[in-house]
Amino acid sequence: MQKKDFIQSIGNTPLLYLKSLSDLTGCEIYGKAEFMNPGGSVKDRAALGMIRDAEKKGLLKPGGLIVEATAGNTGIGLVLIGNILGYRCKFLVPSNQAQEKVDTLRGMGAEVMVVPPAPYPDPKNYRMIAADVAKAEGGVYLNQFENESNYWIHYHTTGKEIWEQTEGTINSFACAIGTGGTLSGISKYLREKNPKIKIGCSDPVGSAMFSYFKTGQANVTPGESISEGIAQTFVTANVKPAQVDDCFLLSDDMIVNMVHYIVRREGLFLGSSSGANLCAAYLMAKRLGPGNKIVTVLCDSGQKYISKIFNPTFLKERGLKITGKKEDLFPALDQLL
Ligand code: PMP
Repeated sequence: MQKKDFIQSIGNTPLLYLKSLSDLTGCEIYGKAEFMNPGGSVKDRAALGMIRDAEKKGLLKPGGLIVEATAGNTGIGLVLIGNILGYRCKFLVPSNQAQEKVDTLRGMGAEVMVVPPAPYPDPKNYRMIAADVAKAEGGVYLNQFENESNYWIHYHTTGKEIWEQTEGTINSFACAIGTGGTLSGISKYLREKNPKIKIGCSDPVGSAMFSYFKTGQANVTPGESISEGIAQTFVTANVKPAQVDDCFLLSDDMIVNMVHYIVRREGLFLGSSSGANLCAAYLMAKRLGPGNKIVTVLCDSGQKYISKIFNPTFLKERGLKITGKKEDLFPALDQLL
């Protein structure tokens, strides 16, 4: 019998065939089930990658302190892995984040400092404070945005797994960007294996990746999205290696309708970033035409977003008309082509 602990259970996630999107496009569309990582998200990989890198560089010693700017999945991955390896975690979280997130991180054993929101790179921004706290307390600020071990772990694990699970027959990969680690690492690996593989990106409104990949200038698009874990206004060190052929600008209606559509059709209960990723996979399939094989990432579970994208009152307040019906989603997406 295999004896695998939490850390050894990170990665090697299943690649799920998505029949509904495949039938609609005449392509084969697959989702990498990252919500099945032991900490519940794709960020378990980045957390482990950054910890192992800091250990290798001699920055992190037994009993050491990890400092990170995170309100979400990276923090969950870091504190759970840190508990096993004997590292303390201190997280900087902006006060506009849901209390449940702070409670979750504290419940898992992290120390959490909640600070007022301030734009980056204002010295009062949570990322800037994280760097100061690490310095003052002799900790290691991992900095998932600029720390290149974030994308390298996706290169060495997620990218390689996708290549092997598709037996080298993948034609396209598409996903959205938070730090950029997932898209950069996977796209770099796949392109090295086959330079013809097309890479797609999707970006929610109020972010700068759409403009960056279309024009080379990272200008923020108008609007504000309710999606969490994605949207980036800077070209981080983890965005730079991304090789993107096509990018699509998504509204919240599209993202949330996709999440509601997919749970009804595929039995997959997912968060908003997975909705954005599935939109990207569908759009790449339509762009490339029937017969192609497209992979995306299913980042985390819908369980974390019950009070938002699965809460009719919240959706109504935001003016979102969410039905999860085919006719309310795909014609709108098709207009982006
Ligand atoms: N989805 C979720 C739920 C996330 O937490 C994150 C990480 N912020 C992402 C997507 C984006 O991944 P990456 O940081 O690798 O771009």
